[in-house]
Amino acid sequence: MRIINTTCIIAGGGPAGMMLGFLLARAGVPVTVLEKHKDFLRDFRGDTVHPSTLEIMHELGLLDDFLKLPHSEVKSVRFQIGKDRITLGNFDTLPVRCKFIALMPQWDFLNFLADRASAHAAFDLRMCAEATDLLTDNERVSGLRANTPEGMLDIRAPLTVGCDGRHSTLRDSAGLASDNFGAPIDVLWFRVARTKGDPEDVVGHIENGCMLVMLNRNDYWQCAFVIAKGGADAVEREGLDKFRGTIEVLAPFLRGRTAEIDNWDKVKLLTVAVDRLRRWWKPGLLLIGDAAHAMSPVGGVGINLAVQDAVAAANILAEPLRGGSVTDQTLAAVQKRREFPTRFTQRLQLMMQNNLIAPALSEGGEPKAPWFMKMIEWPLLNRLPGRLLALGIRPEHVRTPNAT
Ligand SMILES: Cc1cc2nc3c(=O)[nH]c(=O)nc-3n(C[C@H](O)[C@H](O)[C@H](O)COP(=O)(O)OP(=O)(O)OC[C@H]3O[C@@H](n4cnc5c(N)ncnc54)[C@H](O)[C@@H]3O)c2cc1C
Repeated sequence: MRIINTTCIIAGGGPAGMMLGFLLARAGVPVTVLEKHKDFLRDFRGDTVHPSTLEIMHELGLLDDFLKLPHSEVKSVRFQIGKDRITLGNFDTLPVRCKFIALMPQWDFLNFLADRASAHAAFDLRMCAEATDLLTDNERVSGLRANTPEGMLDIRAPLTVGCDGRHSTLRDSAGLASDNFGAPIDVLWFRVARTKGDPEDVVGHIENGCMLVMLNRNDYWQCAFVIAKGGADAVEREGLDKFRGTIEVLAPFLRGRTAEIDNWDKVKLLTVAVDRLRRWWKPGLLLIGDAAHAMSPVGGVGINLAVQDAVAAANILAEPLRGGSVTDQTLAAVQKRREFPTRFTQRLQLMMQNNLIAPALSEGGEPKAPWFMKMIEWPLLNRLPGRLLALGIRPEHVRTPNAT
C-alpha cells in the first residue's frame, strides 16, 4: 500500500471538484483531485455555463481565454406549452458581463480548468484514480483509499472533499443521511444535425404527453426527450419509427433529419434524482455539488450550483487549510452558506417537475401553461425568472487570493 500526504484531497473531477481544486491550488493550498475516468470526454453531461459561472471566470481573469473555446450563446429561453408560448428567461438586462448562457461541451470546460490549475504547483490531478473508501482516525475522516493504475493508494489529508456526483461513494462510506424528493421523470438524450433556417435559441415544447428540449450546439441540436420515470423500456419497445415520428411532431423543422437516429445506441438514458444531505459534513469530511444535493436537469443549473458550492467552499476553507485548522464549525459554515440557495433551487425544480412536466406527460392532449408560468409574462415579473436562471440565489464571488 502506497501512502501520500496532502492538505486537501478531493474525490471527483466534475465541475465542483475541478473548480475547488483550482481555487485552493491558486491560493497556495496543496490539493490532490482524483477522477475515476481517464479523461473528461463523456457525452450528455450537461453543457450549460450560466452567467453566474462566466462571472466567476471573469473574476479569475480567465473569461477572455475561456470564450475563445468553441461555444454557442443562448440569450433567451422560450417554451411552447400547447398553444402558450412563454419566455422563461431573457438575459439582456442582467447586471453581469455575459448576458448569455454559453453552451460548451463540459469536457472543454473541465479541460480548461485542469489546464489553468496545472499552472499552480500546489495542484495535483490524478486521472483513472477512483476513491473507494474513507480512512478514519479516532472517528475523524483522515483521507481516502483509491484504486489507481499503479495499485491501491492511501491519501491522507486534514480535509477530504466528496465531489463525486449523484452516486457518491464518499457519501455512502460516510453514512450521511439524505432526503430524497423523488423525480417523476427520466431523460433520453440524442443529437440531430442543425441546418440553416432552424431556430437559434433553446427550444422547448410540451404537447400530447411528450416533452422535448433542444439546445443549439451550432452544427447539431442536443435534444432531451423527457419521459415519465421508468418509461424508457416502453419507448424502446414501441420502436425507433414511432420515436422519430414523435420527435418530428414536436419539432416539425427536423422533418427528415431524425433518420440519423438509426440505432438505440444513439439514445442515452439519464435517470433523474433530486435529493439533499441533511448534514453535508462530518469531522474531516465535506461533500459539495451533486454529492451533497443531486439536482434535476430542469433549468440546467446543476453545473452552476456545483461551481457556486466550490467557490463558497474555497472562500471559507482556504485560510483555515493554510493555517492547518479546519474545524467542524468551518465545515458547518460551508453548508450554512450554500444550503439556502440549494433548497430554493430544488424547490423550484420540483415545482416545475410536479406541476408542469409530470401532469403534461401523464395526461396527454394539449397542455396549458400553469398559472405561475403565465404570471412570468407580467411586465413587473418577467425579469425575475431570467435572473434566477442565470445567476441563481445569492451568487458567490471569488475571495481567495492568487498566491502564486
Ligand atoms: C439528465 C441530466 C441532465 C442534466 N443537464 C444539465 C445541464 O444541461 N446543465 C447543468 O448545469 N446541469 C445539468 N444537470 C445536472 C448536472 O449534471 C450536475 O448537477 C453537475 O454535473 C454536478 O456537478 P458535480 O461536480 O457535483 O458532479 P458530477 O458532474 O457528477 O462530477 C462527478 C465526477 O466525479 C467522478 N467520480 C465519481 N465517483 C468517483 C470516485 N469514486 N472517485 C473518483 N472520481 C469519481 C465522476 O466521473 C465525475 O467526473 C443534468 C443532470 C441530469 C441528471
